[in-house]
Amino acid sequence: MPTASVTDFHDIGSLGEDIRRHILSNLGNDLYPPDPFRSFSGLAYAIRDRLIRLWLATQASYYDSMTKRVYYLSMEFLPGRFLMNYITNLGMEDGCRQAASDLGYALEDLAEEERDAGLGNGGLGRLASCYMDSLATLRIPGYGYGILYDYGLFHQTIVDGWQEERADNWRRHGSPWVIDRVEHLYPVRFYGRSEPYRDNKGALRYRWVEADTVMAMPCDILIPAHGGAHVTNMRLWTAASSQEFSLRDFNQGDFVGAMQAKILSENISKVLYPNDEPIAGKELRLKQQYFLVAATLRDIVRRHKKSGPSFDGFADQVAIQLNDTHPTIAIAELMRILVDEEFLAWDAAWDICRHTFAYTNHTVLPEALETWSADLMGRVLPRHLEIIAEIDRRFLAEVAARHPGETGRLSRMAIIDRTSGRVRMAHLAIVGSHAVNGVARLHSDILKDRVFKDFDAFYPGKFTNVTNGITPRRWLLQTNPTLSRLITDHIGPDWATDLTRLTDLVPLAGDPAFRQAWRLAKRDNKKRLARYVLRKTGIGINPDTLFDVQFKRMHEYKRQLLNVLHVVTLYNRLRRDPALPVPPRTVLIGGKAAPGYFMAKRIIRLVTAVAETVNADDAIRGRLRMVFLPNYCVSQAEKVIPAADLSQQISTAGMEASGTGNMKFALNGALTIGTLDGANIEIMEQVGRENIFIFGLTTPEVEAARAGGTPPRRRVAADPELAEALDMIGRGFFHPADPGLFTPILDSLLDHGDYYCVTADYRACLDAQDAVNALYLDPDAWSRASILNTANMGYFSSDRAVLEYARNIWNIEPLGE
Ligand SMILES: *Cc1c(COP(=O)(O)O)cnc(C)c1O
Repeated sequence: MPTASVTDFHDIGSLGEDIRRHILSNLGNDLYPPDPFRSFSGLAYAIRDRLIRLWLATQASYYDSMTKRVYYLSMEFLPGRFLMNYITNLGMEDGCRQAASDLGYALEDLAEEERDAGLGNGGLGRLASCYMDSLATLRIPGYGYGILYDYGLFHQTIVDGWQEERADNWRRHGSPWVIDRVEHLYPVRFYGRSEPYRDNKGALRYRWVEADTVMAMPCDILIPAHGGAHVTNMRLWTAASSQEFSLRDFNQGDFVGAMQAKILSENISKVLYPNDEPIAGKELRLKQQYFLVAATLRDIVRRHKKSGPSFDGFADQVAIQLNDTHPTIAIAELMRILVDEEFLAWDAAWDICRHTFAYTNHTVLPEALETWSADLMGRVLPRHLEIIAEIDRRFLAEVAARHPGETGRLSRMAIIDRTSGRVRMAHLAIVGSHAVNGVARLHSDILKDRVFKDFDAFYPGKFTNVTNGITPRRWLLQTNPTLSRLITDHIGPDWATDLTRLTDLVPLAGDPAFRQAWRLAKRDNKKRLARYVLRKTGIGINPDTLFDVQFKRMHEYKRQLLNVLHVVTLYNRLRRDPALPVPPRTVLIGGKAAPGYFMAKRIIRLVTAVAETVNADDAIRGRLRMVFLPNYCVSQAEKVIPAADLSQQISTAGMEASGTGNMKFALNGALTIGTLDGANIEIMEQVGRENIFIFGLTTPEVEAARAGGTPPRRRVAADPELAEALDMIGRGFFHPADPGLFTPILDSLLDHGDYYCVTADYRACLDAQDAVNALYLDPDAWSRASILNTANMGYFSSDRAVLEYARNIWNIEPLGE
């Protein structure tokens, strides 16, 4: 079968006609009177037609080559909006612009009609989406598997300075990109019990009986390569009730009861859990994890069986990547399928499992290392708990054989913690995988040297690193058209698929005319952001100030508080000396706090209080402004990132696994002020120590400070500016109506040991900001550093990261042309 080429489906000529036809037939409406949402939907369906044609051709080429495929299992994907991404990757921009204009709209305005798909919390989900884009563009046969939540991450609003959460009903108006595959419904079971029995040869076997059943329906969202000719697929599951169980109750005459059970069973895919909250004990979350895993493995096994009934070659055909521990129950589920349903011997099944799975760890925060109570797991997934116990028994026997008498080691490494009665999912993931990776070099080293030291010693070579990456298609080409055009005009278009080509910009950093053009591009983006901020908050900001931005989830370890202390100090300096020779600055902060995270919400309140005070102070007008921009999400990131001058990446060293926000900003020419944490270290190595503002404690220094460094109160007493800032916050200067509002924040610093080392890093942070000010006052020097940042960010393309996974972990070669 011939593969379609981009030109076959471009078919721009019929685009207008297709849009009209979809508005008529899909939406039951007419073009007149014009309506932006209707026009967006018509355009979306017209593009979807073209995607489906390409997808079918791609599938045919997979089956022709019978090649190994990777399955990327993730409880979260954070794609944001699709329209402009599809248009950019399919190269349909000119045609779509014309079609939009024929409908009476600018293409950008139609794009704004689309609701974000916010099916993830932040970095982890966005990483999965960047990897989908790279899988497609690199022509690596693979699929993403996840859950189609009806409600994504909550929508954040700010009311009286506080975060409020609203439900994110993103599919209320339909979602044109989602293709329901009603023909592939799979049953997924819960509860019941495991029953031993003898098969006809007298062997002891187990079956899962008396379970409840929920149906999983696949919904596909297509992911086209840049250049369009290859399309891959993100398959998201949605829960539907099973007919049998409602009928069973109906036959007993309880129709309403049956309906209630039906509705409850559909709750499984209802809502995404916000992170940072303890999820332990949340039965629905465990069911979501198993729901994803069970449906996905059914799909993988079905596809595998097309090539024959044998499982011998399974691990040569299938690679499964676990995005964090969330889908780790897949290891027990594959064992259950192979042993209980396919009747393989345990050792043969275990061999297949270990060669199939690989696990990516995303965090070293102890509260995020997932465990489930064995009681809960035994109730929801009775057979899986038995299987995990057997895996654990055999694993500990191996450990004991190698380290006789070391009971401490056994209890540290056990999958089921005998003391707490909890299943440690990370241990299961490590034992059941052939590769375990962290997401930046420092993080991977911490995994090996600290968190999973015993496992690294036990399995030499299993632990590895794949530093995260971001897709240049979305994060430069699509969201920063001004800068992209400038770059392409000078070095050609190939950088979009080979990001290391950006180094061709290096010589241009010395060219005054190019620097000037670079500044103008940034200024355009800052004007665009200023209009957006005005629309969203009513606050006017000046594009001719330094845009200092920190956008990411609100978390104590990310230290938005340290950012605020800098702002308060700068404010105090300006009040004392309004002629202070520093550039005027606009500080923008955005990010959601988990609904149950008290301290993060209190820090948002501090940001809004300081912003209100600073912005109302006529004495410093024009010198400093501060804005909390509500509802950080992918489509907002697309507006903020191209406009940033300074990117704040100031987490406590050792705590941010990698970060990907840091990469997006630097790729778009922002200079980073940051700590030696996560991928910041590798960014520094790439862009050069002189083009980044690094400050603060290193990871070992953080450990030493926690173990007993200078007490925070002594540190504060020794630093008058820090003392002043904390005193103002503590006595209610920024919130006179309730002076005690921020006491918990001060207590955490002064009385509870300042775990995140805010006071310890304060002075170094201010010194680094002084260096920022000095450089910004020299526009040519700043532009030079900005160009060199973009030019040297090629390493952080998700194409590089995905190729490393493919070669070192999945053992998959990209398909040829
Ligand atoms: C990239 C991204 C993140 C991750 O940001 P970090 O700074 O790495 O934590 C979170 N949310 C959104 C919407 C993003 O685009």
